[in-house]
Amino acid sequence: MATTIDEVRGRVALHRRRHEGAVGLVPTMGSFHEGHLSLMRAARAETEFVAVSIFVNPAQFGAVEDFDSYPRDTGGDLALAAGEGVDLFFITDSGEMYPAGHESTISTGSVAEGLCGQARPGHFSGVATVVAKLLNIVGPDSVFLGQKDAQQVAVIRRMVKDLDFDVEIRVCPTVREPGGLAMSSRNAYLSPEEKDQARALYLALREAREQVAAGETGAARIRRQMRRAIAANYLVELEYAKIVDPETMQPVQEITGEVLAAVAAKVGPARLIDNMILSP
Ligand code: AMP
Repeated sequence: MATTIDEVRGRVALHRRRHEGAVGLVPTMGSFHEGHLSLMRAARAETEFVAVSIFVNPAQFGAVEDFDSYPRDTGGDLALAAGEGVDLFFITDSGEMYPAGHESTISTGSVAEGLCGQARPGHFSGVATVVAKLLNIVGPDSVFLGQKDAQQVAVIRRMVKDLDFDVEIRVCPTVREPGGLAMSSRNAYLSPEEKDQARALYLALREAREQVAAGETGAARIRRQMRRAIAANYLVELEYAKIVDPETMQPVQEITGEVLAAVAAKVGPARLIDNMILSP
């Protein structure tokens, strides 16, 4: 385990001196579930040296969001990930990542403006900044991200392209609970009834996928249908249900190729997101 940037650089440099194999990075905020573990497994399968970072990044939380209450369990995380063959855990804090005087950030563009960017101004700049820092600290050949956070993937893809980061982005499928709810550290906030109703997000996305596969091309009709399906659950307060281009995150009207259906909702104290690729 490493807690400082210097230690991480030293460990990665040692690996690079001794071995040829690629370095993989899995950036996380901890509170592991199967989604995180799936990224570690993908990294383990594809790279020689697997680094996993755990840092609850204050820069991606808004002033009234859940930074203070965000679940943190380093001991539990290390136990859960013990069998995954991780070579290096980088467990760090704001003192190390944002020392006094830190003021440079990544400025994101239109890809970060819609969907979650609208409800969480500054969120994706915070995400992009910390990912840029982690890429510079670890210097991985590949970074492993979850499709669960599709807009985050799009923002990081854009940044990597625009700023010439030399890293391959590997996107792993969303891991779900048996009933379909996308796994999330924030699911820990839900009561059993809220968890049950939160499945509506998944069910609405699945229905949208079936409609598009059956030939529906009108995004407005799909959006309406998703809204109706989600609104039927009294504990679920819909924030958005949108159909967008999977790369640019811009709204799509007519579905002629692959699109992304993305939803966000408040369920009890948790803000949940989910998405699915729809193919005609
Ligand atoms: P987080 O700790 O929530 O910031 O997530 C760390 C990484 O795990 C991100 O790349 C997420 O997209 C990914 N992730 C979170 N939940 C899931 C999930 N249910 N399935 C797959 N990947 C996930």
